[in-house]
Amino acid sequence: MRSVIVVGGGISGLAAAWQLRGQADVTVLESAPRVGGKLRTGTIAGIAVDEGAESLMALRPEAVELAAAVGLGDALCDPAQAPTTVWTHGALRPLPAGHVMGVPTDPGALAASGLLSPEGVARAAAEETLPAEPLTEDVSVAQYLAARFGREVVDRMVEPLLGGVYAGRADRLSLRAAMPRVAALAEQGEALVPALRRMRAAGAPRSAPVAVQGVAGGTGRFPAAVAAACGARILTGTTARSLALTPAGRWRVQAVTDDGPLTMEADGIVLALPAFAAAELLRPHSPLAEAELSAIPHASTAVVTMAFSRAQAHFLPQGNGFLVPPVDGHTLKAASFLSNKWAWLARAAPDVFVLRASIGRIGEEGLLDRPDRVLVRRAIAELHRAVGPMGEPVATRVTRWDRGLPQYGVGHRERVARIREAAGKLPALALCGAAYEGVGVAACVATGRQAARDLLTAAA
Ligand SMILES: Cc1cc2nc3c(=O)[nH]c(=O)nc-3n(C[C@H](O)[C@H](O)[C@H](O)COP(=O)(O)OP(=O)(O)OC[C@H]3O[C@@H](n4cnc5c(N)ncnc54)[C@H](O)[C@@H]3O)c2cc1C
Repeated sequence: MRSVIVVGGGISGLAAAWQLRGQADVTVLESAPRVGGKLRTGTIAGIAVDEGAESLMALRPEAVELAAAVGLGDALCDPAQAPTTVWTHGALRPLPAGHVMGVPTDPGALAASGLLSPEGVARAAAEETLPAEPLTEDVSVAQYLAARFGREVVDRMVEPLLGGVYAGRADRLSLRAAMPRVAALAEQGEALVPALRRMRAAGAPRSAPVAVQGVAGGTGRFPAAVAAACGARILTGTTARSLALTPAGRWRVQAVTDDGPLTMEADGIVLALPAFAAAELLRPHSPLAEAELSAIPHASTAVVTMAFSRAQAHFLPQGNGFLVPPVDGHTLKAASFLSNKWAWLARAAPDVFVLRASIGRIGEEGLLDRPDRVLVRRAIAELHRAVGPMGEPVATRVTRWDRGLPQYGVGHRERVARIREAAGKLPALALCGAAYEGVGVAACVATGRQAARDLLTAAA
């Protein structure tokens, strides 16, 4: 394989390009003016802030390892230690110690958290006494966990976390794809509480000191560093419009650029794109892959970033932020107090307090049709209710992520297997990105590197 075109310059495509360095002549096509996709650092009141992903998972090694390999080792930083907090029943309440993705394992801590009613606590505590039949097919997160723990655990503990990661809903997300560790225990026919307690005692969830890490200066530095280190030719402002296989078995890409049309050829191709964009390009080549990719739903979200003057604010909140369960009917999905969470940001802008509020889950697209000023007003009003009267921000910025997060519905893993099988019939073509084996940055890096390895192996 002498040459490869990577379509999509998000972190998945860049990880693929990095894996191919020194082994092929690589060109990355990116439609936006800069690489990075959902890893984007912008500015508010002159301060660098993340507008998309703000952290890299550290329990999975792929993202932090690649960041270190491309020279950002010294920039990796831990967030301030603070419990994950849920705004519910009119107060901020920490998730109880011992929870695993919102699944409680310590009834005493659960009762003390105030998250659930006394009946809800008793219902959750009964989980270890319920018979557990081995789970034989995929079900929704809500279906499985509500049957074992009661609806309150789903509504006030699991659902806010799933909203934070997927902008998704527990009654639609796949247990196997969205909570694979829990699904694996369910498939063994074990009650979850004793099994999760055993796993915790064995140290399984504590293989890294913190669950996530940030990049000082913003996560947008990460794709830029990978792009610089991978040695690929990076063409921004270049949108792939169609693919064709030449008689010689090479891939020909027709693209549009600011300067007009562009045609390129290469021995292999990596599609590192959102599912709907990959579907468009695959339509003439694999109707099955196109149909399955098009069937993956996507949630749209908006991030409302606000800067408050520390001198003028009436009040500044403690902690790293909070999650919001949809059952309470609020507009906010989550809030992240960036100036508390990231020491680099507090050092860079000591006079300003920066936070960001997230709005929009799957099914809430109507909310996002409102103009920016409406989203800002709603975010401020709810923040005041949740944490107290902070006053008015000195600057605001709304970033919209249209169809930004793929939804792993029931049967997602089987759908991905069908997509990979169909795409595997096309020569020298690999798929990677958030649509397949995980939406987090670490999972995206893993799919990108794997796509590159698959191309090289197939060509060997
Ligand atoms: C608001 C938000 C917050 C998030 N927070 C976190 C977090 O804190 N931690 C975490 O781990 N994950 C987080 N995620 C998820 C994670 O950031 C993404 O899943 C991941 O970055 C996706 O990377 P990707 O390369 O697969 O896709 P993308 O980042 O979408 O990159 C795909 C690229 O392809 C380009 N493109 C599309 N069509 C074409 C075409 N035809 N030709 C050329 N280029 C094209 C796009 O412009 C884009 O740059 C967040 C996501 C969002 C939306």
